[in-house]
Amino acid sequence: MEKKTSNIFRLECKTCNLGYSTYRIPRVIKECGHTICEKCVEKTLEQAEQKLEFYCPFCQKTTVIQGSASNLPKNFAIIDIINNYLN
Ligand SMILES: [Zn+2]
Ligand SMILES: [Zn+2]
Repeated sequence: MEKKTSNIFRLECKTCNLGYSTYRIPRVIKECGHTICEKCVEKTLEQAEQKLEFYCPFCQKTTVIQGSASNLPKNFAIIDIINNYLN
Protein backbone atom coordinates (compact mmCIF):
# COMPACT_ATOMS: atom_id res chain seq x y z
CA MET A 1 0.00 0.00 0.00
CA GLU A 2 1.19 3.52 -0.82
CA LYS A 3 2.25 5.43 2.25
CA LYS A 4 2.44 8.76 0.48
CA THR A 5 -0.32 11.22 1.21
CA SER A 6 -1.37 14.02 -1.07
CA ASN A 7 -0.09 17.54 -0.56
CA ILE A 8 -3.19 18.87 -2.28
CA PHE A 9 -5.13 18.79 0.96
CA ARG A 10 -2.14 19.78 3.14
CA LEU A 11 -2.99 16.95 5.45
CA GLU A 12 0.10 17.07 7.53
CA CYS A 13 0.55 17.56 11.25
CA LYS A 14 1.43 21.21 11.84
CA THR A 15 3.83 20.24 14.62
CA CYS A 16 6.03 17.61 12.94
CA ASN A 17 5.15 18.49 9.30
CA LEU A 18 4.57 14.82 8.48
CA GLY A 19 1.52 13.64 6.62
CA TYR A 20 -1.33 11.95 8.42
CA SER A 21 -1.79 8.29 7.60
CA THR A 22 -3.15 5.12 9.06
CA TYR A 23 0.09 5.01 11.06
CA ARG A 24 0.12 8.70 11.96
CA ILE A 25 -3.47 9.04 13.08
CA PRO A 26 -4.94 12.54 13.33
CA ARG A 27 -6.32 13.13 16.82
CA VAL A 28 -8.64 15.90 17.95
CA ILE A 29 -7.65 17.86 21.03
CA LYS A 30 -10.91 17.85 22.93
CA GLU A 31 -10.69 21.24 24.64
CA CYS A 32 -10.17 23.35 21.53
CA GLY A 33 -10.84 21.15 18.48
CA HIS A 34 -7.37 21.46 16.97
CA THR A 35 -5.93 18.39 15.26
CA ILE A 36 -2.48 16.94 15.88
CA CYS A 37 -0.95 13.58 15.03
CA GLU A 38 -0.91 10.78 17.56
CA LYS A 39 2.91 10.60 17.48
CA CYS A 40 3.27 14.21 18.61
CA VAL A 41 0.82 13.69 21.47
CA GLU A 42 2.72 10.58 22.57
CA LYS A 43 6.06 12.41 22.38
CA THR A 44 4.71 15.24 24.52
CA LEU A 45 3.31 12.80 27.07
CA GLU A 46 6.68 11.04 27.27
CA GLN A 47 8.49 14.30 27.92
CA ALA A 48 5.93 15.25 30.54
CA GLU A 49 6.55 11.91 32.30
CA GLN A 50 3.77 11.43 34.84
CA LYS A 51 1.72 14.41 33.77
CA LEU A 52 -1.20 13.67 31.52
CA GLU A 53 -1.84 17.30 30.70
CA PHE A 54 -1.37 18.12 27.04
CA TYR A 55 -0.80 21.71 25.93
CA CYS A 56 -2.16 22.47 22.49
CA PRO A 57 0.75 23.80 20.38
CA PHE A 58 -1.65 26.10 18.53
CA CYS A 59 -3.58 27.84 21.30
CA GLN A 60 -1.90 26.62 24.54
CA LYS A 61 -5.12 25.23 25.96
CA THR A 62 -4.68 22.33 28.33
CA THR A 63 -6.37 19.01 27.75
CA VAL A 64 -6.10 16.24 30.33
CA ILE A 65 -5.45 12.98 28.52
CA GLN A 66 -6.29 9.78 30.34
CA GLY A 67 -3.50 7.29 29.79
CA SER A 68 -2.46 7.66 26.17
CA ALA A 69 -3.00 9.54 22.93
CA SER A 70 -5.31 6.80 21.71
CA ASN A 71 -7.96 8.11 24.10
CA LEU A 72 -8.32 11.30 22.08
CA PRO A 73 -11.02 11.14 19.40
CA LYS A 74 -9.88 10.49 15.84
CA ASN A 75 -10.40 13.17 13.22
CA PHE A 76 -12.61 11.11 10.92
CA ALA A 77 -12.89 13.88 8.34
CA ILE A 78 -9.15 13.64 7.67
CA ILE A 79 -9.12 9.84 7.89
CA ASP A 80 -11.88 9.67 5.26
CA ILE A 81 -9.88 11.85 2.86
CA ILE A 82 -6.75 9.74 3.41
CA ASN A 83 -8.70 6.53 2.78
CA ASN A 84 -10.27 7.92 -0.37
CA TYR A 85 -6.90 9.03 -1.64
CA LEU A 86 -5.20 5.70 -0.93
CA ASN A 87 -8.00 3.65 -2.49
ZN1 LIG B 1 2.85 15.41 14.47
ZN1 LIG C 1 -5.85 24.36 20.32
